[in-house]
Amino acid sequence: MSTVHNPALLAPYLKLDQGGKIMAEYIWIDGTGGLRCKTTTVDAPVKSVAELKEWNFDGSSTEQAPGHDSDVYLRPVTIFKDPYRGGDNILVLCETYNSDGTPNRTNHRFHANKAMEAAKEYVPWFGLEQEYSLLDADGWPLAWPKGGFPAPQGAYYCGVGQGKVFARDLIEAHYRACLYAGVEIAGINAEVMASQWEFQVGPCEGISMGDHLWMARFLLIRCAEEWGIKVTFHPKIIKDGDWNGAGCHTNYSTKEMRAPGGMKAIEAAIAKLEVKHMDHIALYGTDNELRLSGKHETAHISAFSWGVADRGASIRIPRHVAAQGYGYLEDRRPASNIDPYEVCGAIVKTTLL
Ligand code: ADP
Ligand code: MN
Ligand code: MN
Ligand code: MN
Repeated sequence: MSTVHNPALLAPYLKLDQGGKIMAEYIWIDGTGGLRCKTTTVDAPVKSVAELKEWNFDGSSTEQAPGHDSDVYLRPVTIFKDPYRGGDNILVLCETYNSDGTPNRTNHRFHANKAMEAAKEYVPWFGLEQEYSLLDADGWPLAWPKGGFPAPQGAYYCGVGQGKVFARDLIEAHYRACLYAGVEIAGINAEVMASQWEFQVGPCEGISMGDHLWMARFLLIRCAEEWGIKVTFHPKIIKDGDWNGAGCHTNYSTKEMRAPGGMKAIEAAIAKLEVKHMDHIALYGTDNELRLSGKHETAHISAFSWGVADRGASIRIPRHVAAQGYGYLEDRRPASNIDPYEVCGAIVKTTLL
């Protein structure tokens, strides 16, 4: 059975009015780092999360709670416009809490938010480069010969033309869905491996970085559902051969780094990151050791390094930043499957607190 949506059948229903009520899609991170969602009717359009109810779900079905105490609570934290339903309908990103009031195991936002609050005066900004791969329904990379491989890497990165880029229509839909929703998407590009892409989100201040990245991921997976395409954030889907992995480069700056003379603050932050290298690696994504091999524009996982314009280093200072003497740094270590709350929280703790 085809699972691809049939827009023609749905079209007449999309024109029906909603009787003044709206639909609020509550979205949360589950026990495996995946996304879940469910919808509730709200009596009238809302402007802030304070107007939305705390809700709950069956955590035993999402690896977030045992069956005998299965209620997990959803607390709305950010609202985005709903590009699928349109109108006053909304997407609501939520934090998850256990029945005793403690944050759920995968509620990394709770902890990151404390760090962001404590570091507020430094005005930390982040910009994330989310790489990902597209798969066919059978799990093999989209448009690759079944059980085989496409032409070697070289023409795919920022490619144009038949046989060089795949699913551009899906990527365009996602970009526009992000802009409509209010996600701070900064750009897109086709990546080095065939059927691998990247979108950038930011710069975003503090905790909002994680909110916007998670919502951008939700929109991508949701759009791809309509195309019958799978999205994977695994950092190394093809382990052998000359195929790039997928990362989530984390660009970072503080108020001081962004001002003339900021290079000193950038170098001081790098020195602090160096000392905590392995602590950061522990939070920088599962299976990241498969990706951080020292090849394919990565630094080896076991050694910290940094350099100007060096794509083989753990931390890169962009050439234009070094030239003007201020700006930001790029942490190239995070894998595509990170929780951005964990990574941004750790960077702030290590460099500022
Ligand atoms: P790359 O050359 O590594 O591929 P990209 O253009 O893909 O770089 O991404 C650069 C990212 O850096 C963007 O997400 C952008 O929002 C972010 N960025 C730009 N300036 C800053 C800054 N001052 N602080 C943090 N992030 C920034
Ligand atoms: Mn990039
Ligand atoms: Mn990239
Ligand atoms: Mn980068």
